[in-house]
Amino acid sequence: MDYRKRMESLVRELLRHQQLYHVLARPEIPDAEYDRLLDELLLLEKRFPQFAGANSPSRRVGSDLDNTFPERPHTVPVLSLNKLYQPQELGQWLLKTEAAAGCGVGFAIEEKIDGASIVLYYDQGELQYALTRGNGLLGNDVSDNVRTISQVPLRIAESSRLAVRGEIYIKRDDFERYNSGVAEKYVNPRNLAAGSLRNLKSVQTARVPLNIFVYEGFFANEFSRDHLEILQRLRELGFRVNPRLGFFCDDKGKRLRAQHLFPGISAAPVAAVEEYLRRQAASRADVPYDIDGLVVKVVELAVRQELGTTAHHPRWAMAYKFESPQARTLLLDVQIQVGRNGRVTPVALLKPVAISGSTVTRATLHNQDYIDMLELNVGDEVSISRRGDVIPAVEEVLEKSEQHPGIFQLPGSCPFCSTLLVKEGAHHFCKNQACPERRRRALNYFCAREQMDIETLGEKTIAFLFAKGWVQSIPDIYSFDYGLLAGQEGFREKKIVRIRAGVEASKSRPFVRVLAALGCEGVAAAVAADLIAHGFDDIDKIIAAAKKNDWEIFAAIEGIGETTARLLISHFSKPENLRLIDSLKTAGLKFVGEKTGGDMVNDSFAGQIWVITGSFVQFNPRALAAAAIEKRGGRVTENVSARTTHLLAGSHPGSKLAKAEKIGCKIIRENEFIALLGAL
Ligand code: AMP
Ligand code: ZN
Repeated sequence: MDYRKRMESLVRELLRHQQLYHVLARPEIPDAEYDRLLDELLLLEKRFPQFAGANSPSRRVGSDLDNTFPERPHTVPVLSLNKLYQPQELGQWLLKTEAAAGCGVGFAIEEKIDGASIVLYYDQGELQYALTRGNGLLGNDVSDNVRTISQVPLRIAESSRLAVRGEIYIKRDDFERYNSGVAEKYVNPRNLAAGSLRNLKSVQTARVPLNIFVYEGFFANEFSRDHLEILQRLRELGFRVNPRLGFFCDDKGKRLRAQHLFPGISAAPVAAVEEYLRRQAASRADVPYDIDGLVVKVVELAVRQELGTTAHHPRWAMAYKFESPQARTLLLDVQIQVGRNGRVTPVALLKPVAISGSTVTRATLHNQDYIDMLELNVGDEVSISRRGDVIPAVEEVLEKSEQHPGIFQLPGSCPFCSTLLVKEGAHHFCKNQACPERRRRALNYFCAREQMDIETLGEKTIAFLFAKGWVQSIPDIYSFDYGLLAGQEGFREKKIVRIRAGVEASKSRPFVRVLAALGCEGVAAAVAADLIAHGFDDIDKIIAAAKKNDWEIFAAIEGIGETTARLLISHFSKPENLRLIDSLKTAGLKFVGEKTGGDMVNDSFAGQIWVITGSFVQFNPRALAAAAIEKRGGRVTENVSARTTHLLAGSHPGSKLAKAEKIGCKIIRENEFIALLGAL
């Protein structure tokens, strides 16, 4: 007998029956028969392990070996979603989106499943690996655990590359049952689902009744430009697509087509959306799994591309969340903060209160206008919200205090230096450059993780050094003799050694960090990276350009607008800022950029000269694309010339595209670029 052939045919049979049973709920053979086939395969795999594939149905059983979850890059965008909490707000978002995209766009409304996010990557018809969302750029490889989920197809009838986004979840009653049988209780179904993906041993995951719904497909062959068609195709390929789906569009033809694709779908004009949201919210308990909202998505991929994304979320989708996490508490006091640029921010000091699992003691009040709008004063009972991951905010006054009538007023002068505050726009400012608070904050900013990342100079240590008069300005960080700290309370020898080492290490931080740390307004990490990627890879080049006093030089870089360009000019022409740069140069900091932003991946782009234009979904900021090219040995230049070999063109490409077409260099779109990176 040809065992290899027999094994291959068992694999095919078993996968088909798993699909029939777990996805279509239409079993064709009795369980006992299925078990017999599986036993036979297990036996053969034991005898001929060399023939056992990564996607054998035996993988559903899991393994006893420890998982390691290596990180891998995502090759499709895995952004999070912008959120709204009121049906009316969503109605306005629909109008705005229609206005931007043109009337007649279609909106799909899906359930927002409250589980764990997963991205499945297929190639040549096989599941290659499955990644968690991670930070959106890198995810953890949890393939072996995911392979135990019967509803996840291990093989599909699609040979070109495909990535599928979905949510792994657990039904409420399954959760109760599972939880009653384990010693360590899980808080809710979502935690159990997420935890199961990270089990060290996949045999444990195999025991958890996990389900999946998929909701986005990225086909390398771009077989369709329509979300509904993609969902339909995913379904044909054996994925579970949530049938509870709405479609809203003012174009009757498109509605009919949606009903044809998804018989039973509720299709209606856009005006009916708000009512639909209310109805779904009211009936959320009727579905057997947890949903925390609905997701509204533009269905036309061309429109999606046109609308683009922000750094965090697509502009073509919006989550409507059923409830925003809120809590009631007392406003104890208002603290006045003065930032390094002099801006005054009032901060609410609250009686500690728990919101969605964490304790909140402070919330921003933005400015006097915001306080006036709330009619807020110390002693008031307020409602606090936490929307998404943003800083908590005071939403409204629930009960006015008896003792403190009236509205809280910002002081007339800076609480740190007594300089009179100046109002500009909605904010008040302390304009005193020598204000001690502004200087202390500038030191903190310089040392913070996003900038120079001098971990040993945290806010507390800085405050101490500052109060002593030892470190008053940024250059002092590099000239102060930290040996003087010996004998001060809280500064043992070991700590002093660590501080010195931290300061020393900061001298080798790349230019991109130094540039951000200099504190030019509008120039944080992303803009700094953009500048460097576009030839401003040396501080002297930036200073020279600023001297020309022509903001268009900087604004020519996409991602930098007129405002930031003007801020750059003003910052890098001020004598005090130039003095700071000089003394930091003397201290040994890096003021010249490195060509490659880190480790080389390979040299597949060697000899190529790339130009980048337009904006990108995944490479945002664009410096990410430049880094990807350079890490493969390619060069990135600013302008198209006869030497240019490749133009990477995003949406809204500039005049560079026409020029590139004229000289006839290769024009690469974002998805081809991703494919190039992934394939090499
Ligand atoms: P958030 O993490 O709150 O920004 O919301 C985005 C997450 O919602 C995604 O990463 C998915 O894990 C999850 N999600 C659940 N259902 C859907 C859906 N139908 N479409 C998009 N995202 C969904
Ligand atoms: Zn001040």
